Amino acid sequence: MPTHDITPAGVTDTGNIRSRNEDHLLAAGDLFAVADGMGGYGHGDRASQTAVEALHQTFTADPTEEGLLRAVQVANQAVRAQAAELADGRPMGTTLAAVARVHQQGQDLLVVVNVGDSRVYLFRHGELRRLSVDHSVVDELVRAGSLSEDEALTHHQRHVLTQAVGVADTVEPAVTHLVPEAGDRLLLCSDGLFTEVGHDQLVAVLGSEADPEHAASRLVAEAKANGGRDNITALVLDLS
Ligand code: MN
Repeated sequence: MPTHDITPAGVTDTGNIRSRNEDHLLAAGDLFAVADGMGGYGHGDRASQTAVEALHQTFTADPTEEGLLRAVQVANQAVRAQAAELADGRPMGTTLAAVARVHQQGQDLLVVVNVGDSRVYLFRHGELRRLSVDHSVVDELVRAGSLSEDEALTHHQRHVLTQAVGVADTVEPAVTHLVPEAGDRLLLCSDGLFTEVGHDQLVAVLGSEADPEHAASRLVAEAKANGGRDNITALVLDLS
């Protein structure tokens, strides 16, 4: 049975303009996550923290794919419960992107789930591929072929999400599976990273910084150098 060691390195930063950081990241055992609280809804920092904590607690009790999918629903309910308490019934919301390592049929499997527009990428053999699906108005236009990836980055509706954790009674996360290979590098990040650091620049950093700590901190530094207009989170996972 092939198993892999996962070395995580994460950096989260307020960026150059925002007054507080509403992103949260988690690297704990076999679970890795990034959440980006929605400031417009209020208490974005609490929403992202609550979602990540609920995800962690539920997955730890049942570290399977089913447990992970249930954990996303528990995270959704936890944010909703907190909104009822903190926000006078105004919704609270957060994105959530997570990678969990599970053992399935004698194999190491990575399960990737996401809600909203925080992303998970796979960097393998020098190529960068997105594993997550943005739940955003512009990504739907990109998938329909009516907008290019580059146009999406500057489109006036680029921040409008079609789904987030905490907003509705249930969520429908996008789910993908990856059979890991030694040498794989995954990147989990908030939109504050990929809107400032384009595809080619992501490839250049991930391909040149062998140490995951250096890769994560350089990604965030480049996002800040390119504007840093939002909170920035980069979580790099190296598989050996
Ligand atoms: Mn953001």
